[in-house]
Formats: sequence, structure tokens, C-alpha cells
Amino acid sequence: MADQRLIKQINRARILDAIRLNSPISRSQIAVRVDLDRKSITNLISELIDEGLVVEVGKRRTEKGRPLTLLQLDGREHWVLGISLAENRVSGQIMDLYGHAAQVCAHPFALDSGLGAIMEVVLATYAELKADAPGRAVGVGLAVPGILDPGTSVVHRSVNIPALNGINIRAAVEAFIPEPVFVEEATRAKTLAEKWFGVGREVASFASVDLGIGIGAGLVHNRQLHGDGIQFAGELGHIIIEPGGAPCRCGHHGCLEAYVSDRVLLERINRSESKKWRDLRSVDASRPRVATVLREAGYRVGLALAYLVNIVGPPVLVLNGDLMQFADLVLPEVERGIAAGALPACAERVRVLRSELEEAAALGAGTRVLSEYFEVKGHYWV
Ligand SMILES: [Zn+2]
Repeated sequence: MADQRLIKQINRARILDAIRLNSPISRSQIAVRVDLDRKSITNLISELIDEGLVVEVGKRRTEKGRPLTLLQLDGREHWVLGISLAENRVSGQIMDLYGHAAQVCAHPFALDSGLGAIMEVVLATYAELKADAPGRAVGVGLAVPGILDPGTSVVHRSVNIPALNGINIRAAVEAFIPEPVFVEEATRAKTLAEKWFGVGREVASFASVDLGIGIGAGLVHNRQLHGDGIQFAGELGHIIIEPGGAPCRCGHHGCLEAYVSDRVLLERINRSESKKWRDLRSVDASRPRVATVLREAGYRVGLALAYLVNIVGPPVLVLNGDLMQFADLVLPEVERGIAAGALPACAERVRVLRSELEEAAALGAGTRVLSEYFEVKGHYWV
């Protein structure tokens, strides 16, 4: 016999999601969308109202009969904080259950900082967001780059933030964050953001490619994020594109990251132009040598993505990161690299897009908390 409790959890998640996507909405409109009997809907909504997750917000007049009571998600007692710890900055946002950000902030720190200095920036970001929160925070999502044990939240290996190696990151932040903390690997967090708020609103399956100081890929298949419960997946940056080539921080030679990491590209561009641009975003792509470096980077990204295309065949690849500031130059080269490396029949079926999300990592960290409310692990996905 089917597990009644599980069925109830799934129905509850479906109702919450119908409200999230169609607010304000009446009970009868929800009934049309979730295909469930009226009594079950009425009972589940009463529970959600009692818990404070859903609120009644007025009535809509109808042509005949009683006016309809409208429902929406609570905006006072349920806010979530998303904090992204990246290689040289911490960014954060506080958002409501719809994912609307009320406040965003970012604090840079020096590359290769020690653990204590990094934790101080995380704490400052948390304190700033908390002080500005329009309502009660119910959870904190933390996105961290590296190989992460999903059970214990120990960072086994972070190639680009070695200070995190061996650290139980959840325990480290729980020392100063009283709310429940949900830790997610950074590329997976960005992929969650794409699924909920970006390209994933239109397509059920895609790969999200994260181009930064570190490089990774997250996969969504039929709305489910790949890799739940396993310790690593999508380490695109450490695919070898030049055997015996440039040394990579991981210890191998010829990895994609050794050629197109933001850190490597900036060094190369500054050297070729005798300049000192501070980050990849600020380089002048109208200079021919700069443009050449950026185009080459795009081609190499394409060569690495060809492996993903041949093996997994995602219908859409969505790319984010500072390199995408130069999408006009870079994306055609990414497509050329894919065409050079992937089977033509596979390459033809892939659309390559630029992400339209700002601060995908902090948004994704917050989305990790939202998934606790709107998804049922292993059974129902938004
Ligand atoms: Zn490597």
C-alpha cells in the first residue's frame, strides 16, 4: 500500500507550488491546477494557513455566487538567507518564499585568505542581511565550492580555496548562525537557481555551466538535480583538454581550468597588454589581443563541453560567470568548440545560452532552503 504520509507530503508540495506560481489564487483555481479532490485541498490549505506558510489576502468578486478568497505565500515569518562563499568574495541575499530578493550584498576578500579571515566575511555578510531582513529568517543556505560530503558538510577538497580543506563548513558557520543551515556545493546551487528562476522555467533538462575562478557544471534531468547523495559531479574544470599541458592547481596537467579560469585569463590578458585590470569583468575586449584571449577561452570551454554533450546530451547548456560579459565574442567560439569535439548529431541538438541571472550563487544558496518547503526529496521536484 502506498505510503499515505508520503502522498500527503507530495500533495502539500504541489499545492504550495501552485500558490507560488499563481499568487494570488483561490482554492478552486488551485483545485484545477493540482487535480485533487476539494476536501483534500481544503484540509491541506487549512494546515498551511495554521503553520503560517500561506495567508488569505482578500477576496475576488465573481459573476455569480460568493466572492473567492485569495491565497498567497507568507511574507512576514518566512524569509530565507542565501550566502555564497566564492574564491575571492562572499555574496548574499535575503529573499521571500517566491525568491524575490529584498536585499543583496557582496564583500570581496583576498584570494588565498586564511580560514579565519574568510569566516569573518561570511559572518559580516550574514549579520548585514539579518539586520535588513523584512521578516523572520527561517533558514540559511550556504554555497561552497569544492568536493563536499553531502551528509557531514565536510569539504574534502576545494582546489581554489585550500583554507576550506578538511573543514566541517556547517559546524563552522553554525557557531554564529542560529537558524537551520543548509550547505550546497556552489555549482549545484547555481544550477538550482537556473532551475527555479532562470532557463529551467522553460526546459525540464539542461546543464548549467559555471565559468569563474573555478569551473563546474550542474545537470538537471526532468527537473531533478543530478548528484544527490554523491560527493562530486560536474567537475568540468578538471577535464583534460591538453594532455601534458599547463599545470593545474589540482595537481594534474592540461585541465580546462588551467587555461580558462578567470584567474588565468586575467593574468594572461594583463601580461599581453602590460595592464593591471583587477578582474575579468573590467578588461577592454575591444583590444585585439584581449579579444583573442577571450575567443580562445570560449573555444576551449566548447572542447570540454563536447564531452558533456556526447555523454549526457543536455538539450540546453546555460553558461554563467564573468566570461559571459563578453558573450558576443565567446559564445560563437563555445559552439565552434562543441562542434569540433562532439558527434555532429549530438552537437546539433544543443542550444547554448547565456544565463540571465544576477548573483546566481547567492540566489541558488537561498533556493536550497526553499527546496525544503517546495520539494519532496526523491519524489517531487519543482
Ligand atoms: Zn585540474
